[in-house]
Amino acid sequence: MNDYSRLLACYDRPGPRYTSYPTAPVWRDDYTAEHHRERLQAAGQRHGEPLSLYVHIPYCNAMCYFCGCATVITQRHDKEQPYVDRVLAEAALTHAALVGGQESTRPIAQHHWGGGTPTFLGPERIERLFEGLRALFPLADGAEVSIEVDPRVTTQEQLATLARSGFNRISMGVQDFDPKVQHAIHRVQSFDETEAIVRGARDLGFLSVNVDLVYGLPFQSIEGFQRTLEQLHRLSPDRIACYSYAHVPWLKKHQTVIPEDALPRGADKLALYLCALQSFVEHGYEAIGMDHFAKRDDELAIAARRGALHRNFMGYTTQPAQDMIAFGMSSISEVDGAFAQNEKTLPAWEGAVDAHRLPVVRGLRRTEEDERRRSIILDLICRFGVTFADHGGAEPFRQRYATELQALEPMVQDGLLTIDPTGLRVTEVGRLFVRNLCMAFDAHLPRDADNSGPRFSRTV
Ligand code: SF4
Repeated sequence: MNDYSRLLACYDRPGPRYTSYPTAPVWRDDYTAEHHRERLQAAGQRHGEPLSLYVHIPYCNAMCYFCGCATVITQRHDKEQPYVDRVLAEAALTHAALVGGQESTRPIAQHHWGGGTPTFLGPERIERLFEGLRALFPLADGAEVSIEVDPRVTTQEQLATLARSGFNRISMGVQDFDPKVQHAIHRVQSFDETEAIVRGARDLGFLSVNVDLVYGLPFQSIEGFQRTLEQLHRLSPDRIACYSYAHVPWLKKHQTVIPEDALPRGADKLALYLCALQSFVEHGYEAIGMDHFAKRDDELAIAARRGALHRNFMGYTTQPAQDMIAFGMSSISEVDGAFAQNEKTLPAWEGAVDAHRLPVVRGLRRTEEDERRRSIILDLICRFGVTFADHGGAEPFRQRYATELQALEPMVQDGLLTIDPTGLRVTEVGRLFVRNLCMAFDAHLPRDADNSGPRFSRTV
């Protein structure tokens, strides 16, 4: 760990996660439903191009204190039907903007439900929502149809409904099996509950099972995390996401309940990640991108080796769909070079849909310069490298990004990346700090004061 202490001192600092570029804090409030409608109309003309679709189900039974998602906490299941009806109404509005009265000519290559807890919905509502969406937006052959489930509330009947409807990939949160950690984050979930869902999904023929872990949670220790990893490997998921806990209590008020002095930080937090990394490699997983691992024969690992991985708000994918339409409270669409985020509270989103308005509250249309930088950042987080030839050639790249390459020089000295005549290559150590490398190309990031204001989580 001593080897890392100096790197941590330099590079464990606040920074974006780059689930989008430009990142959400710089999106604009004057990007409206009308702007989104124009982008949808333009996207509707690109006949035959694949499209991604995301649905956000915000409801959860109880709040997990570490959570960073947009949620609505309730046990009232009479809310299911009105929510499903409004999502379908929003989908119809989007469909009308995309193709007028015609049938959509853009097949859905990736259809994903996230939350919140999508399996807050009972089997009937699951079926109704999925069928309603599929009728408007038909699936492409071989589409990825995926869902996030919470093993604490998901039944075998729901799993069977999902499989029958056409869902073929499933993802579930575990975070940590250590009871002390689970109590501290207010998410008590037994191994048996989790195993039952993994086994049920496999029996029903789901093509891929993903499990999420989180490191940096309160009271996590190496010994406890190693036990969690041993239990994880008994489940043998096809994919694992191992996220850094983003402690942002100034944005997520419920995180103030988490005792600050119980949080592993710096070298202790990195040690948890390195422990996980070693365990994944020993069990035959490959690092496919930032925080994500897959078995060697998983399609994501194969795509990563071929340099054909893509990333959007839903995570890593083999599907190259450029546009994503998203429905539900707070969801984010990415259409024709622009981001559009829906109203972030349930009443505001409901009000807009009920008034037959696309419920957009903010967004951003990317400039050509944004597109160029976005594609560099995507190369860094999907391929751990940038090939100059893919970005206009070595000399134009060096001229255009002279300042950025200069800013990367200390990272080259520190062994985080190499720069050769063909491009930039992120080293094994550099992968731990890849958000810092992306930050060098982020033209919207304030360069003053190390971004140390309360804005982003830490990069490690
Ligand atoms: S179940 Fe998931 S989305 Fe809901 S509060 Fe817990 S972590 Fe957040």
